[in-house]
This record gives sequence, structure tokens and C-alpha cells, in this order.
Amino acid sequence: MPIRQKLMLIVMATTTVALVLAGISILFADFFLFRGYLKNDLSALSRIIADNTTAPIEFDDPGAAAETLGTLRARPHVITACVFRNDGRLFAQYRRAHATAACPAPRSAEDIRFGGGFLTVSHPIVFKSKQIGTFVLVYDLGEIVERVELYGATVVSVFVLATLVAVLLSSRLRLLIATPIVELARVTTRVSQQRDYSIRARKFSGDELGTLVDAFNEMLAGIQSRDSELRKALLAREAALDDAQNARASLEATLENVARLNVELRMSNESLARSNEDLERFAFIASHDLQEPLRMISIYSQLLVRRFAHSIDPQAVSFVDNIEAGTKRMRELLADLLAYAEIGARNEDVSEPVDLNLVVEKVRQNLALAIAESGATISVAPLPLIRGFESHFTPLFQNLISNAIKYRSQQTPKIDITTGGTNGYIRICVADNGIGIPPQYYSKIFVAFKRLHGQRIPGTGIGLAICQRVVERYGGRIWVESEVGSGSNFIFTLPVGLIVR
Ligand code: ADP
Repeated sequence: MPIRQKLMLIVMATTTVALVLAGISILFADFFLFRGYLKNDLSALSRIIADNTTAPIEFDDPGAAAETLGTLRARPHVITACVFRNDGRLFAQYRRAHATAACPAPRSAEDIRFGGGFLTVSHPIVFKSKQIGTFVLVYDLGEIVERVELYGATVVSVFVLATLVAVLLSSRLRLLIATPIVELARVTTRVSQQRDYSIRARKFSGDELGTLVDAFNEMLAGIQSRDSELRKALLAREAALDDAQNARASLEATLENVARLNVELRMSNESLARSNEDLERFAFIASHDLQEPLRMISIYSQLLVRRFAHSIDPQAVSFVDNIEAGTKRMRELLADLLAYAEIGARNEDVSEPVDLNLVVEKVRQNLALAIAESGATISVAPLPLIRGFESHFTPLFQNLISNAIKYRSQQTPKIDITTGGTNGYIRICVADNGIGIPPQYYSKIFVAFKRLHGQRIPGTGIGLAICQRVVERYGGRIWVESEVGSGSNFIFTLPVGLIVR
């Protein structure tokens, strides 16, 4: 049932109940009030008539008494009225037209009672303070019924009229309440069906319903803002999810690439190692096997000069000398190449503690001539005992020290060998006061056959390559720090794990 009809029903029910109750109350009140009134009225009337009948009784004039009783004609509901003598004989009687009823004998001198649809009144007739008779009056209660009917009709017509007015009034007034509620219901339905939180309910009044509409609108605003935030968050989440998926995809692709590159790297590493081995074997064999024919060339060219000294042309002698010098240089090159190849080769011997102090001492003896010639001074800090091969460390120190002497400046060579330590490595530095090296050649000089000072100073260009090979073979690193004109520091590191003492 819509709220308009409910309101109407409430109004009508309230009005009806109120009217019916009021009507019934009025009817009851009147019924009882009128009975009281009737009692008083009839007892007063009885007294007056009783007083007026004393003389007729005293003078025994029933006609006069009947005349007095006849005035009761003015009261149509009086059915009958009688005057009794004291001895109970009827003295005079009045009867309403067409009435046949007889007067009841008085029960007592003074009495008034309702019964059998009548009101019966008895009143004593007194003369000089002595009762001389009794007046009795019978009144029909039809008047009460008439009154009830009259009032009932009035109540019913008032009821009908009031209901009509109530219907008219309430149909206008209920709109005051129903309209805002219907509007709220309409908006609620629209919001829930369309999920559109931007709709707002119209406010009709400043009362509680207005407050309700305000609160409802506020709630909608709250939901709207939360809804939009939620939407935004959802979009952001979806975007993040997309990003994550993209990132995952690209990560997977990268991982695949890395795996592929790894495989390729391993393959090329393996082939590199193979070709390295081949190359080393070749270098070793070549440098080793070439020594023999070289020696033959040298021996036979010397034999040639010695055997045919008297007959040979002096120019031929100088040619032979050149051959001699060439073979000597070639021998040196081959020896260095062989040394270089040997460091890379697998060493079947078991490694042993190598005292680097002794190594430097041995190098000093090897280079005794050069040291004496140049007047070089060599200071050596205490060096450690290293697990390895002496055949590796001797060329390492010998190359560094001989270079320090070879590439000296005008000053007398001064070589300092010092040690230090950095996380996990021992650091050994061979410092000189030689000609120095420009920075752009710092790494180039470690490449085999790369020489900086050309023909001016003899050399094969393999020395530093051998040094690098040795150091890297033991897991260390070698580099140079230098200043042209002041000297060079050749620094190499070795893992502390190699140190025996
Ligand atoms: P080599 O000494 O036989 O030329 P190295 O490999 O020992 O070959 O040295 C390579 C180059 O590095 C040398 O030709 C030289 O120019 C430069 N060099 C090496 N040691 C020093 C040094 N102590 N002072 C200056 N230059 C150096």
C-alpha cells in the first residue's frame, strides 16, 4: 500500500474513532443526565400538584382534583396520574388520551423509581403536617428514546460531515509528508538501479524530513566520492597489473636472452680455450724447435768465416756478422716466447713455498752486470713466502727490475720494492726513478711485443706480458702508475690465500 493511502487511512481511522467515541460519550452522558433531570423535574411537578390537591381532598371535591390533574395534559409523556386517599381508595385520576393504564397503588408515601419502561413517582399530600393522601404519577420513558434517536442522528450526520471534511483536508495535508518521502523513495530507486551517485533528492521543508533529505544527500555525496576513489584505485591497480605483466614478460624475454647468451658464451669460451691451447702448444713447439735450426745457422756461419778467413771477401764477413746478430736476436725472441708459453702451460709439478726474498736475491745475481754498470741501488722490504713455482716468480721480478734499470733517466737508478695489503690481497710495488710512461700507454705496454721506446733500448716487448701472465695465473692483477720524468710504480697483487708465511 503506498504511503499516501497509509497516511489517508491513519487520518481517517483516527478521525472515525475519535468521532465515534465522542458520539457514544455524548449519548451516554445525555442518557444519564436526562434521567437525573427527569427525576428532579417530575418530583418538583408532583410536589406542586400534591400541594394543589390538599383543598379538594379536605372539601371532598374530586372534580376539582381531576381539574388540577388535567393540567398534566401539557406533558404528553405523563400516561396517568392519580390521587389516593389515605385509606387507599382512588380519589381522582388523569389518563392520557387513549391510555387505559391504571395507577399503581403507592408502595410508600415518597418514592421515585424507574421500571418496566416507566418512571413512577409517589408524593405524600400533606395538610397541617398530616398526610391526607398520596399522589402517584406514571411517566413513559419514550422521551429518552426520542432523545437518543435525535442525538444519534446528530452524531451520525456530524460524523459524515466531519469525515468528508477530514478526507478533503487530509488529502491536501498528507502531501506535506508524503511528497518528500515519495521523492526520497524515487531517488533511492534511481540510485540503486542506475548506480548513479550524482543524483540528489529535492528538499521540500526545513523540518525533520528536510533534515532527512539533507542527511541522505550527504550520504550520497560520501558514497559518490568513495565510489570515484575506488574507481581510481581500481584503474591504478589494473595499470599496475598491466605494468607488472609487461615487466614480467620483458623479464622472461631478458632471462631467455641471458640464458641464450650464456650458452653462446660458454661455447665460445670453450672454443677460445681450445684455440688458446692450440696456440700455446704451437708457440711452445715453434719456439722450442726453432732453436735448433737457429743454432745450426749460427754455427755454420761462424765456421764459414773461420774456415775461409783468408779467401773470404771482407764484405762477406760483415754479412756473416749481420746473420750472427739476427740469429742472436731471434734466439732471444724465441727464448722469451718460450718462457711466455711455459707460464700458460699446465704445470705437472706440485706447487711449493717460494721465498720471494730469495727470488729477488737470485734476480740480483742474474742482473749483477747491469746493476754494476748502472750503479743501481735496490732496497727490498721483507717479502712473503708464497705457494707457487719459482720458475714463475723469477721472470716476474727479473723483468720488472731489469726494466727499472733499462728505462732509467739521467739519474742513477734507485729501485724500491715495498709490500702492503688491501682486502684479501697482498700488494707488492716495484718503484723506480726512471723515464716514466705517459698515461695513454699504461695498459698497452702489457701487450706482448708492444714496445714504447723502440729500437733505442734493446728488448723483445714480451717482459711485461710475461709479468701479467704470471700475476693473473695466481689470481692477481698488475698495473702501472707513473709520471713522465719522475719514475714508474709497477704494482701487482696476489691473493693472501697464497701466503704461507
Ligand atoms: P721490453 O722491455 O722488452 O721492451 P717490456 O714488455 O718489458 O718489453 O716493456 C714494454 C715497454 O714498456 C717497454 O718497451 C718500455 O717502453 C716500457 N717500460 C717497461 N718498463 C718500464 C719502466 N720501468 N720505465 C719506463 N718504461 C717502461
